[in-house]
This record gives sequence, structure tokens and C-alpha cells, in this order.
Amino acid sequence: MGHTATLSCSEVRRQLPAYLNGMVDTETAQQLRWHFGQCQNCRLVVRTALNTLSQHFMRHPAETCEEKTHAT
Ligand SMILES: [Zn+2]
Repeated sequence: MGHTATLSCSEVRRQLPAYLNGMVDTETAQQLRWHFGQCQNCRLVVRTALNTLSQHFMRHPAETCEEKTHAT
């Protein structure tokens, strides 16, 4: 066991869905955030994933709203 708790990029990407869902423990989240600070590639992946998520969340209520207006 070394003091290095660094994750590889593939490890980071494997954990990413869980991280975005807040399902990783604090230590893992810290390691991931540290990696994002070091690795531009993974930072880009996260940003893209977050964009996709927020688009999804923004679209969802709009769809429900439209549906409701249409039905009434
Ligand atoms: Zn990386």
C-alpha cells in the first residue's frame, strides 16, 4: 500500500456515473476531483456529462408541462 491514491483515467471514467449520482464515498469523490484537477481529458468528460445531465433535467419538466397543457 503506497501513499499514492491516484486513479487512472479508465478508473475515473468507470466511477464517473456513480460520482455524478453522488454514490461514491467522500474519499473516492476527493480522488476523482483531484484527478479532474490534474487531467484535462477527464475534466472534459465530466463537463460533457454534466451538460448532458442538466439538459436532461431541463428537458424533462418542460416535456411534462407540455403534455399537461396539451391534455387539458
Ligand atoms: Zn484522466
